[in-house]
Amino acid sequence: MLPGSFVERNRACGRPNCRCADGKSLHVQYQISVLVDGKPRVFHVSAKMIDQVRQRIAMRRRFDAAAASVCGINLRRFLAPWPSGLD
Ligand SMILES: [Zn+2]
Repeated sequence: MLPGSFVERNRACGRPNCRCADGKSLHVQYQISVLVDGKPRVFHVSAKMIDQVRQRIAMRRRFDAAAASVCGINLRRFLAPWPSGLD
C-alpha cells in the first residue's frame, strides 16, 4: 500500500531532433505525487514499477474508502442512543 497519487503526464524532452519536438508525439512519463514529511513531492516511476505503484496506490484508496465506511457505520451505532445527536 502506498500513499499519494499516480500521475501520468505527457512531456517534451527538449531535444530538437526528437519525435516530440513537434509538440504532438510527446513522451509519456509516470510519477507518484506524495507528501513526504508534510511537503508535496513528485518522483519518477520507472517503467518496470508502473503496475506495482499504480496497484499499491489504488489499494490505499480502497483502504481509505473501507475505513470511512466502517467509521460511518460505527458512528451511527454509537449515536443510536441519542436520536438527535450528542448533547
Ligand atoms: Zn523527446
